Amino acid sequence: MVWLRTLLAALAWAALAALARPATGRFGWEVLCFGLGTLLLWHVWQLSRVTRWTLDLKRPPPASAGSWDDALARIYQHLRQQERQLAELEGNVHGFFAAAQALPDGLVTLDHEFHIDWCNRVARQHLGLRFPADRGQNLLNLVRAPSFVEYARQPEWPAPLLMRSPGGGERMLLAQLITYGGNQRMLLTRDVTQLEKLETTRRDFVANVSHELRTPLTVLAGFLETLRDMPPDALSEDQRAHYLKLMHDQAQRMQAIVADLLTLSTLESSPSADPRPVGMPGLIETALGQARALSAGRHAFASEVDAGLDILGAATEIASALSNLIVNAVRYTPDGGRISVSWRRTPDGGACFAVRDTGIGIAPHHLPRLTERFYRVDRSRSRESGGTGLGLAITKHIAMRHEAELTIDSELGQGSTFSLIFPESRIAEGDQTGRH
Ligand code: ADP
Repeated sequence: MVWLRTLLAALAWAALAALARPATGRFGWEVLCFGLGTLLLWHVWQLSRVTRWTLDLKRPPPASAGSWDDALARIYQHLRQQERQLAELEGNVHGFFAAAQALPDGLVTLDHEFHIDWCNRVARQHLGLRFPADRGQNLLNLVRAPSFVEYARQPEWPAPLLMRSPGGGERMLLAQLITYGGNQRMLLTRDVTQLEKLETTRRDFVANVSHELRTPLTVLAGFLETLRDMPPDALSEDQRAHYLKLMHDQAQRMQAIVADLLTLSTLESSPSADPRPVGMPGLIETALGQARALSAGRHAFASEVDAGLDILGAATEIASALSNLIVNAVRYTPDGGRISVSWRRTPDGGACFAVRDTGIGIAPHHLPRLTERFYRVDRSRSRESGGTGLGLAITKHIAMRHEAELTIDSELGQGSTFSLIFPESRIAEGDQTGRH
């Protein structure tokens, strides 16, 4: 201890002064004063070095002696320990912010009156916030959607709120307020646009299927009731046959819809089979045969097929896609029209199957929606010709399963070209025709 050592040194000087007495005849005050003065000066000097050191505590303390040295060493050790703890804490806080920043969801921390404390990048996009400019602002003044304000003013928030993003666009958000740390709040936001779209598609699909099946069922039920309520001899043989044919048509229509729905569901749920060489020329010939039968001589057909060009895939799926496209050409081309089919290599090493018709054509605004389930340009025309509205949706799925692209070129009143373009990787090995 400094005071003890100083006391001991003072006592030692006093003893020296006393010893000096016999020699000088006096007590030796001068010696004592000199000693004490020197001691005092030394301490003042040490103190001034310590004061200088405190200007930059990162440096090691000045080399000292005695109690000063012990005390300074302990202070320095304590300071370094605090520094390490601080660095650790800073690391933790930094890690926490980095994690919150990397979240795929939006996060805003708030006080109990909804003043913004901090928000991550995603929250800025979701809610249109500016940070740090908006720090301290009341969130309810910045996100003013009435549904959100009403939600926030609830005493508690057991469920999230579905809302349109105030950040703009068509984005839909799921917002959830949470209380934490006693009196603080946080707002979590999740982008559910895709989920919402899927849900809308699902709802539309169920509504469409019900509608598509209900129409023929209503007709069928109507005929059955009529037949049931009529006296047996009220109908002639011809009339009975006519009614039965109409009923049979409706039943077939429902069968076609259910069959196409099952095909779609199989395509969606089953993994693609191992690709095998598919004899395209044979499949094209079969599909053309069906189309000629459906046309019954009303159309002129032409084909230009590379006889040695095959692809890798699933033959049943490809057959269904080819037949959908060629049969559509027949359905949507008035009598006397021309239907041309081609199958050839593309300049980039792939292959293209194209069906060109001189039919009714399609207005440009319908083109992006044609492959949606049950989408038809002209509902009654499609129905009259036996269409289910699912053919192109199935064809697009099959194309995707073969890494192919379905393209549609059409001009209203002039005709259409539907093409399936396969990449080079899908050309069957051993096929050398047209290779570059
Ligand atoms: P559909 O069973 O009604 O033919 P698709 O999915 O095969 O259903 O076709 C969707 C719609 O695309 C059709 O209803 C029709 O309006 C239009 N379409 C398809 N192919 C042609 C074509 N070759 N020419 C004109 N319109 C077509």
